[in-house]
Order: sequence, then C-alpha cells, then structure tokens
Amino acid sequence: MIRLYDTRQRKKVEFVPRTPGKVSMYVCGPTVYNRIHIGNARTFISFDMIRRYLEWRGFEVTFVQNVTDVDDKIINRAAEEGRTAAEVAAEYTELFIQDMHAAGVADPTIRPKATEEIPAMISLVESLIEKGHAYVVDGDVYFSVRSDPRYGTLSGRNVDEMESGHRELRADGQGLEDRKQDPLDFALWKAAKPGEPAWESPWGQGRPGWHIECSAMSHKYLGLPFDIHGGGQDLVFPHHENERAQSECGCGTTFANYWMHSGMLQINSEKMSKSLGNFLLLHEVLEDARPQALRMLTLQTHYRSPLDFSVERMDEANAALTRVENALSAADWACSNATDGAPDALDGVALREQAAACQEAFTTAMDDDFNAPAALGAIFTLVGQLNTALADASLSLANAEAVVCATDAIRELLAVLGIALAEDEGAANYPAEVVPLAADLAGYGGEDAMEAVEALLEARAQARAEKDWSRADAVRDGLIGLGFVIEDTPQGAKVTYEG
Ligand code: AMP
Ligand code: ZN
Repeated sequence: MIRLYDTRQRKKVEFVPRTPGKVSMYVCGPTVYNRIHIGNARTFISFDMIRRYLEWRGFEVTFVQNVTDVDDKIINRAAEEGRTAAEVAAEYTELFIQDMHAAGVADPTIRPKATEEIPAMISLVESLIEKGHAYVVDGDVYFSVRSDPRYGTLSGRNVDEMESGHRELRADGQGLEDRKQDPLDFALWKAAKPGEPAWESPWGQGRPGWHIECSAMSHKYLGLPFDIHGGGQDLVFPHHENERAQSECGCGTTFANYWMHSGMLQINSEKMSKSLGNFLLLHEVLEDARPQALRMLTLQTHYRSPLDFSVERMDEANAALTRVENALSAADWACSNATDGAPDALDGVALREQAAACQEAFTTAMDDDFNAPAALGAIFTLVGQLNTALADASLSLANAEAVVCATDAIRELLAVLGIALAEDEGAANYPAEVVPLAADLAGYGGEDAMEAVEALLEARAQARAEKDWSRADAVRDGLIGLGFVIEDTPQGAKVTYEG
C-alpha cells in the first residue's frame, strides 16, 4: 500500500488511483522566460522520482506537464530584447527540455503548450460565466472567489482573513484594479493591450490568465478528477487554490484527488533569490557536476522538506556515488574472475538475504510518502555489506551468483530513483582475456581490462596509419573474438562489449 501526504487533507493518506493500475498526474511546468534554476529542478526531479517509483510498482503513469508560454514575464522580456514573445518562449522551451534531459528527468507523456490550448481555456471560462462563477468587465473576465464556498480549502485559508489583507493593500493604493467586484477575484482572461500576444474570444482580443491554463490542460488530457496534482510548495496559494476553484466550479466535479507539493530549495540555508546573489541556474551547476550527483543530493532530503544546496553537499553526494560505483566495479571484476570450486570466505546465502532485505526496506521507505532518503539508506547498507563480503576477493562460481544478485539489486533500485550510473562503469564487465591480448598485440604491461582495450585501440589506429593492415586486422579480430563490437566513427573507433 502506498501512502502519500495530501496537502488538502494535511495528512498522509492511502493512495487509491481512480483506475486500478493506472495513475494520472499533472505537474505544473515552467514559465519559459529564462533558463530554469536549481529550485525548479528540485521540484521536477522530485516528481520524476515519484513517477519512476509508481511505474516500478507496476502502475501505468500518464504524466502531463504544461509549458506556460504566454505570460507577463515573457512579454516583458520580449519587449526588453526587441523580440516577439513567441520567439522568447520558443527559445526557452527548447532550453528547458535540454536542461531536463541533461538532469536525467524523463519526458512527460504529454507536454502541452498554453498557446496551443486556447480553445479549451475559452470554453472553461464560458462555462464559469454561465454558472455564475465569473463575470466580464471590458474584455477582462474575473473569477468570483466568493461564489465558491470551498475557496481556501486546499491552502487552509479563510476567505474573510484574505479579504482584510487585500483591503489593507487597497488602502495603500497598491494597484488593486477597481474593475473587480471583489478584491479577491482573479483574472481568467485578460483583454490584450496593443502589441501583446492576443487570441480572438467571445470577450474580444485577449489572452488567458495563468491559472486557467492548468485547469484547461489537465482537464483536456487527463479528465476529471485525475489522481495527483503536483508542484512546488510556493504554488499552493494562489495558483493551485485558483486552479481547483475554477475547475470544480466550472466542471462540477472534484479536480484532483491528491495534492502533492515539494519543499523549497535554499542555498547555504538562505532563500535563493536574485537579490541575494545566490541564484544558480541548473545548466551552470551541471557544468561542474554530474547529474547523478545532483540527483543524489536532491534525494538525500525528503521531497517535502526544505533542501539545502551547497557546493560541499554536492561534493559529498558525488563521493557517495563514487563509493557505490567502486563497489560495483570491484564486484563485477571479482565475478568475472570467479572460478569453479575456488575456496572463498563469502557467505552467498547471507548476501542473497541482504539483497532481499534491501529491496524490502527500499519498498517500505518509498511506499511511505516516497521517502527517498531512507530508500537510499537501504541501498548504502547493501553496498557496505557487499564490500565486506568481497574483502576476501577470490570467488567460486556459485557465490558469484549471489554477488550478481546484490549488484543487480543496487543498480535496479538506483535506476528507480533515476540515478543512472556512469557509462564506463560497464567496462568492469570486460573479459579478463583482453589483458593478455593487449600484452601480445599492443605491448601493454598492466592488469586493467579497460586500459587494455584502450591500448589495443591505439595499436590498431597506429597500425592503420602505418598501413600495416595485417596487424590492424589481428587487433580487430582479437577483440571481436572476445565478444567486443567495434564501430569506426569520425571520432575514432568505438568499442562496446556485448559478451
Ligand atoms: P515557475 O516557473 O516559477 O512557475 O516554477 C516552476 C516550478 O518550480 C514550480 O513547481 C515551482 O513551485 C518550483 N519552484 C520555484 N522555485 C523553487 C524553489 N526555490 N525550490 C523548489 N521549487 C521551486
Ligand atoms: Zn499550474
């Protein structure tokens, strides 16, 4: 049974999807007016982890994430740069997708763009007007907050307290438009100012408000109610409260059955903001660090807690990852050198039991509101047990199987969390015979299989340069004979081991 913390109910509850075996999720995407920062990345990585886990638990997940490609911030940036809003949005949408790929975040099942979904938004606004939840003022359309008796139930706010807050603002003259019937009301549709992006609507040329986008797109692609609505905690109010109000008033049904919110990322225990000068973009961080380390750091804190980012923590996360990789390489090496009946001190039965216990602890932790830090703890425990077991390295074939059982569990569970291990980690699987082959054909004097392959490739390149075809072929045939596949690319020979 999976339990998750539901923001609306303010407690952990059992997760029961709308349709058995299927999960529908909507996670608010970025407003594309600049590159995303590591705070945004924290939220997207958290929901990627949640989605991957649900898939691993056997659910078929439909994951929808919008791109907000029309918004004041985009329009302002376009004006500053003398470009159109569409150009600015297209550039940063592309860069957002690149950044997500670089961070190892899987693509959503559907990634709708607000500007391509205007008809669905218009029809939702029309139905809100029809049902008396919205009104038109000179080409603007506003949602009437007091027409929704449940307004405030998601964020735990009381409408009367909200209003007094706004009245103070109004007395200070902080620009609350007089066009609204009530200061709490918010825009569903905005009449276009000259030069702004605009679409034809029953209320004249205009553009959608931010909140209505998500209501229309989640309804269109998932149907109501869908299972999980997610985003960062800063979106609970007003964005998600408004999405909920619009959708439930407009469609007459529950909007999302569960609401999940990830905590905010801070830098060195301070809020991350441009004015404090501690603002880090994701692509800048990934210039100095590998994405797996960023994910390790991210998942070492529970997704709902504030996450403290620092360079030191990033280095620690990287070191933790390297310890796992080294343990796996050592285990793979020991397995490839295992011999039948070799005397060894390893207790294969115990190691298999430890691998099974790790799987169980991992699942228990993740079933409990996606407790990734505890799940990582279970993986690290098994890594420690594997290291201990391998301390006396020579392995019998029977115990090699127990070692493979442990390494498979470690790799699989890390992959569930979205931590893909370094690619050359696969080099640890190279057959030991490649070392004598390299000694023979490339004069290699070491013991390392990966270096041996490199030496062989160098020798082949040199032989080809010297037009010594028989030597070049001997190297190639030797590698192929051991199960390698050689591909000649413009960057040089690429070798993969197929076994
Ligand atoms: P935005 O483009 O500002 O709407 O943000 C996109 C996503 O990033 C939303 O889900 C936000 O809640 C989330 N987000 C923004 N800032 C932070 C932060 N400092 N830490 C965690 N998530 C954030
Ligand atoms: Zn949204």
